[in-house]
Amino acid sequence: MVAIHPAVDQGVQAGNGSFQGGTLVCRCSSNPVEVRVEAPVAHNHVCGCTKCWKPEGATFSMVAVVPRDKLAVTANAEKLQVVDPSAAIQRYACRDCGTHMYGRIENRDHPFYGLDFVHPELFRESGWAAPEFAAFVSSIIEAGTPPDQMEGVRSRLRDLGLEPYDCLSPALMDAIATHTAKSKGVLAAE
Ligand SMILES: [Zn+2]
Ligand SMILES: [Zn+2]
Repeated sequence: MVAIHPAVDQGVQAGNGSFQGGTLVCRCSSNPVEVRVEAPVAHNHVCGCTKCWKPEGATFSMVAVVPRDKLAVTANAEKLQVVDPSAAIQRYACRDCGTHMYGRIENRDHPFYGLDFVHPELFRESGWAAPEFAAFVSSIIEAGTPPDQMEGVRSRLRDLGLEPYDCLSPALMDAIATHTAKSKGVLAAE
């Protein structure tokens, strides 16, 4: 069996429908970084890109978005550092355990400006919305998965109900294209 991510390898667990936020905790056994989120997660998915943080042994990350004004670092903020200051998404990682706590976009023209990226398995609480699809599946080859395993990976993702895409889902790709069309004046802005 192909290992996708520990949170889905035994089957995708549905959210409880009432999750309204929680506390993300890094993997440090003492003085962990804590990040408070006061909102449900949206667009949860597994991601095969090489930039997203993955737990040990996982082929995919699990990543969702929350409104940036609903996220606040509440403990041990001094341990956070930006992984790559030149990246579009500024990923804040714990310098001691390496866990990425949240990713933030500072470019106001970016289609996803206003949303922070988080890894829901880091919530102390359970019940967050389940992943819905798999993004950037072909990119796992860049991290070392042999190309001849891709058929098995995609069929395992389908078995789990995580439709595999080699970019984002159609809904998110449409949202990006709409943003681009509006900023170019091709579509009327709201
Ligand atoms: Zn840590
Ligand atoms: Zn990713």
